[in-house]
Amino acid sequence: MWFVRAALGDREKVYLKKKTESLEKCPSNSLVSKAAALWKNANTNTSQIFERIRSQLRASCPGHEGERFCTYCEHSSPDWIDHVRPKSRFPMKTFAWDNLVYACASCQQIKGEKWFLMIDDALFEPEVDDARADASSLYLEPTRDDPQRFLTIDCLGTWSVVPRQDLSPRDARRARETIALYALDERNLPQGRKRAAQTFQFALHAYVEERKERGFDPARLAEVRARHAAYVRALPHRSTLLAINEHYAALSGKWRSLSSEAPESLEWISDDP
Ligand SMILES: [Zn+2]
Repeated sequence: MWFVRAALGDREKVYLKKKTESLEKCPSNSLVSKAAALWKNANTNTSQIFERIRSQLRASCPGHEGERFCTYCEHSSPDWIDHVRPKSRFPMKTFAWDNLVYACASCQQIKGEKWFLMIDDALFEPEVDDARADASSLYLEPTRDDPQRFLTIDCLGTWSVVPRQDLSPRDARRARETIALYALDERNLPQGRKRAAQTFQFALHAYVEERKERGFDPARLAEVRARHAAYVRALPHRSTLLAINEHYAALSGKWRSLSSEAPESLEWISDDP
């Protein structure tokens, strides 16, 4: 799971705010259906304002320029706006910018409508007009909880997503529940991470070799670096590449030598959108 929020224009912010305000006047027994109808009418292919909203959501996904991957699995193409907190349970969050990400159909389907909030360690499923709706989610919300602070990838063996070791018991629970909710270690995703790591290694090797061949002409070196950086940024499984950079010292000698020869690769994969 990887997410860095791209900026939204003022016009789009006002538009989303007005939609939320129109829901505030709605009685709670018809809020879910009203929110669903408003969303269906607004999120169309012909809406220019929604085209810009979708474009910024795409730019918040891992990847580079035209090549983007799902916020949750970092593997498939993101095709849909996903409501992090499902709009069937949180209709007032239907047009909330901090509740929207771009995701693939598979992740959306797997997540479904299930959502728990937690107060202390007690879980509950909120009602539509629940006064406790501001409580923390059991699951990580990539728009609020930086996924990189909670999750990393075991790149020394299983290629699964794992909670970071320094988390509190509560945060570790949230991390584990998130991995399960989105089935992040199923759907052949670990194999996909392993393949992305291999491609990353080939790409770094090719970069180091080409740099040697091109000599030390600064203009040519800059071109070589930019081309390889664009290629690496457009690889799937950004979190895996970040984990490799984090754990270079524990990886094989091949990784360690590439790390010392191309330390700039960290910048290529950790940059903002
Ligand atoms: Zn996905």
